[in-house]
Amino acid sequence: SLSDRLTATFKNLRGRGRLSEADIDATVREIRRALLDADVAVPVVREFAAAVRERALGVEVSGALNPAQQVVKIVNEELVEILGGATRTLRLAKVPPTVIMLAGLQGAGKTTLAGKLAHALKGQGHTPLLVAADLQRPNAVTQLSVVAERAGVPVFAPHPGNQGAVDVDIVIGDPVGVARDGVAYARDKQHDVVIVDTAGRLGVDEALMRQAADIRAAISPDEVLFVIDAMIGQDAVNTATAFLEGVDFTGVVLSKLDGDARGGAALSVAKVTGRPIMFASTGEKLTDFEVFHPDRMAGRILDMGDVLTLIEQAERAFDADQAERMAAKVAEGKDFTLADFLVQMQQMRKMGSMKKMLGMLPGMGQMREAIDSFDEREVDRIEAIIRSMTPGERENPKIINGSRRARIARGSGTTTTAVNQLLDRFAGAQKMMRQMSRGGGVPGMPPMPG
Ligand code: GDP
Ligand code: MG
Repeated sequence: SLSDRLTATFKNLRGRGRLSEADIDATVREIRRALLDADVAVPVVREFAAAVRERALGVEVSGALNPAQQVVKIVNEELVEILGGATRTLRLAKVPPTVIMLAGLQGAGKTTLAGKLAHALKGQGHTPLLVAADLQRPNAVTQLSVVAERAGVPVFAPHPGNQGAVDVDIVIGDPVGVARDGVAYARDKQHDVVIVDTAGRLGVDEALMRQAADIRAAISPDEVLFVIDAMIGQDAVNTATAFLEGVDFTGVVLSKLDGDARGGAALSVAKVTGRPIMFASTGEKLTDFEVFHPDRMAGRILDMGDVLTLIEQAERAFDADQAERMAAKVAEGKDFTLADFLVQMQQMRKMGSMKKMLGMLPGMGQMREAIDSFDEREVDRIEAIIRSMTPGERENPKIINGSRRARIARGSGTTTTAVNQLLDRFAGAQKMMRQMSRGGGVPGMPPMPG
C-alpha cells in the first residue's frame, strides 16, 4: 500500500545527516510509484513529485528535525496543501433558506449524505428540509423519505402516487419543477436550509448533466456539493471534471471513506478541480459523517499520523534559533558548556510530556529508558546546581574537584551524588553535541521510529 511504501522509503532516509540529490531522487521516485499505486491521477502525481523534490533539495539541516523528518514534513505539507489547506465549512445564505444541491453519479452516496447532512444541521439548531428531485428511479423518492424520517426532518416530494411500476429510464414528473417548488416551499414554511437530492447515472451522460445544470439554474444554490465515492480510483478525475464542466460545484464530499480507499481519489479530485473537500462520509449510518480535515486525510494517505504529531511537537518545543546558535558553536569547534546544557535541559522541559510522545513510538529501547527517567523536577535541580557554580567552573567543569563538588551541593541544596550525576550527564551531552556536529541529529531528541 501507499503507506507501507512511504514508510519503507522514509526508513531508508532515517539517520542520514544530510540528503544528497540522489537520495532525494530515489525518495521522490518511491513516492511517485506509491501514489500511482494508490490510484492518484498521473498528472497529479507528476506535479506533486516535482513540488516535493524542489522543496527537499532546498532543505537545510535545522535544529529540531533531521533530514528524513524534514522530507516527511514536506510530503505532508504538500498533501495538505493539495487537499485544500484549511477546512472549509458550509456557506450559509444571508437571507434564508440556504440552498444546498447534491450532485454525483448513481450510487455515489447522495441520498445517504442528504440524511446525514440534514441530521447534523438539525443538531446545530437548523430546520432543514429535504427535497426529492431524483425522479429517475421509481424508489428514489421512497429512499429519501426513509432517510428523512430517520434524520427526523421533513421531505418535500412529488406525490407518491406518481410512482407506479415505471421503467427505470422514464422520467416521472419534472425534477426541475420539484426542486424549484421545494425551495419555494422551504421559504414559505421558514426552513432555513434546503437540501436538494438529485438523480445520478451509472456513468456520466449528457442528459444527466443537462438535468443537473437545469436544476442548478432554477434554484441558484448557495452550495453545490459533488459527492464522489472514494473507492472510484483513476476514474475520479474524469468524473469530477465532467461534473465541474457540466454542472460546476462549490465543494466535494468524499463518501465511503470507511472502505480501504487510501485517499487517491481525494488527492486527484481536490487537485484537478481546485474545489475544497468539505465532508467525509464514513458509513451507512446517519452519524457516519464528518467535516473533512485536510491534515487528517494527509495523515491517512501517509498513514503516519503519529509520526507527524511527534514532528510537530518536537518542532514547537525546540527553539530553532537556540539550536542554530548551539550548532554554530559546535561547528566552530567551541566547547559546549554547562550554560548551554542548562538551556538544553530547559528545552526538554518545554517538550512537556516526553513520555506521552514516546508512547507513540514503538521499539524505542534505550531512548525510552532514558526519557522514562526524565523528571521535570530534575531540571529544577540541574538549574540550581549550575547556578551554584562559578563562571570558571561552568566554562571548565574539569576543575570541579571533591571540595568544589561539596560546596556546589551545599549551595544548591542538593547532594554531591546529584552534582556527580549532573557532571556525568553533561559529559554525555557534550559527546552527543559532537555527534550532532557530524550530522547525527539533536541531543535529547528521539530518533525516528523503526
Ligand atoms: P446515491 O445514488 O448517490 O443517492 O447513493 P446512495 O445514497 O443511495 O448510496 C448508495 C449505496 O452506498 C447505499 O447502499 C448506501 O447505503 C451506501 N453508502 C453511502 N454512503 C456510504 C458510506 O459513506 N459508506 C458506506 N459503507 N456505504 C455508503
Ligand atoms: Mg440517491
